[in-house]
Amino acid sequence: MVILKALLGMKTEIVYSDVFRKHDTISHPENAERTLVMMNALKEASFYDDLSFIDPPVLPEEMLYHIHNQRMIFEIKQISETKTAWLDLDTYVCKDDFDTARRAAGGTLALAKRVLDGRADNGFAVVRPPGHHATPTTSMGFCLFNNVSISAYELAKFGHKILIFDPDVHHGNGTQEVFYARNDVLYQSFHVSPHFPGTGKIEEIGKGKGKGYNMNAPLAHGNGEEAVQQIIDDIFIPAAEQFNPDLILVSSGFDSHHADRMGGLHLTVDYFGDLLKQFQQIQPKMVCTLEGGYNLDWIGKCLVSQVGQLAGFPQHFEDTTTEKNTSQKVYTKLKKKLQPFWKL
Ligand SMILES: [Zn+2]
Repeated sequence: MVILKALLGMKTEIVYSDVFRKHDTISHPENAERTLVMMNALKEASFYDDLSFIDPPVLPEEMLYHIHNQRMIFEIKQISETKTAWLDLDTYVCKDDFDTARRAAGGTLALAKRVLDGRADNGFAVVRPPGHHATPTTSMGFCLFNNVSISAYELAKFGHKILIFDPDVHHGNGTQEVFYARNDVLYQSFHVSPHFPGTGKIEEIGKGKGKGYNMNAPLAHGNGEEAVQQIIDDIFIPAAEQFNPDLILVSSGFDSHHADRMGGLHLTVDYFGDLLKQFQQIQPKMVCTLEGGYNLDWIGKCLVSQVGQLAGFPQHFEDTTTEKNTSQKVYTKLKKKLQPFWKL
């Protein structure tokens, strides 16, 4: 039976550990409830028994230094030895977080390696704390270390081309900064604007040999699937196809769902799975890692939508919203800006 499943089905792996619940503080939107709700939703999904689970290993400390600076790493390490403390108004560090946050990064990397070398077909790292706002020098926006960037960095080192697709409602400023001058990691983000962290403008397309390898679609509040889809169809997917990545990493933020109080975009649950489906046509080797998403009534369904798509069991949920598509200017300007680098 196991052999038959291995021959016929997709091998989708989930990285998760209860250790992530240790990163928690009262009344913060990025809390331990999030992954609890998501894992419970997954347990109720019809395809749950088809999933495999792996424990997140701790990322070796020296790998942090490849993308983050010493001061930032030391600060987290020091706080984590004794107490909970705040790095800024948004971002907290708990006791043992030096271990917990390295498991979030290490779990994402372990899964990415397994998918790249064929031990798994694809997977989702349900990890916390999130990562895409952590810059080379600063932990911020609920993020301690940049999980997705650490994975991309470690794999690109061996000559692999990595696409990072970031549909979180916030711009992944940290990820953009890490790879801004590189052409072996392509970063594509749509996000709502104006919004935290204030970066992610159309003009930010990379520098040096990385020019053209950083793509931002800053959409207005109230834009939804129609606006996003035009960007995906005519800019992100054609560029991704030409880039021809060896692996796709997805910064899976569920705060672009229409009911998220930290959001502003109007996406429905099914669209989270649909987004992956479209990128799977470019490269089926895909690993999602959890970023934002704060509406506890919806984030479980968003996760089930994406994991269902990865595992070959597309899901459908009743969910409707309205959309005011005002993205034409962004679309036209972004396309023009990137045309010197890609056939669009
Ligand atoms: Zn977010």
